[in-house]
Amino acid sequence: MARYTGPACRLCRKEGVKLMLKGDRCYSDKCSFDRRQKAPGQHGANSGRRRPKEYGLQLREKQKAKRYYGILEKQFKNYFVKADKKEGQTGENLLTLIERRLDNVVYRMGMAESRREARQLVRHGHFTVNGKKVNIPSFIVKLNDVVAVAEQSRKSARIKMLVENISGKTIPAWLSVDKENGVATVAALPKREDVDFPFEEHLIVELYSK
Ligand code: SF4
Repeated sequence: MARYTGPACRLCRKEGVKLMLKGDRCYSDKCSFDRRQKAPGQHGANSGRRRPKEYGLQLREKQKAKRYYGILEKQFKNYFVKADKKEGQTGENLLTLIERRLDNVVYRMGMAESRREARQLVRHGHFTVNGKKVNIPSFIVKLNDVVAVAEQSRKSARIKMLVENISGKTIPAWLSVDKENGVATVAALPKREDVDFPFEEHLIVELYSK
């Protein structure tokens, strides 16, 4: 699956908000958003300050969500179509569906500093779901699924360090995590309040509903 491979910090400056795409760096004084708050590019200083109109606001909110989760347009639209078919609020369905991606679960269980790192770990086959190796970042977990570090990967020094690091992480209520062993159980499906970014998802729904 294609993905954005350009500079992550540029995306934060473009959206005018810290998208927290680089783990610890985002909390440090090395964060380039904190250091130079303007949109990237030749006209960045002006374009970042203009107040967007309705369409612009809707577009930016969608771009923000795509970038936050590291998803490209086609796949994001597919999530919207699925969310729209489900009962309940489409925007809430959209965000909670994306939260259930395997790369997001690996990030939220504390095994990675960023969703980018989590995606790479999944791609490299370091995780199993219910005992079977899954290397698809977009895999959607279900209630009671068990996500664990693959047996073979437990020997790797990097993976051992990542498991040790879980102890200092805050885990969302919908995941039950065995921090010693790097195992997460989907104890409940995520709710809107479990999404740790203040999206205005109604803007995304309005954009796709035009
Ligand atoms: Fe964004 Fe993190 Fe880069 Fe700061 S360090 S600009 S929050 S990705």
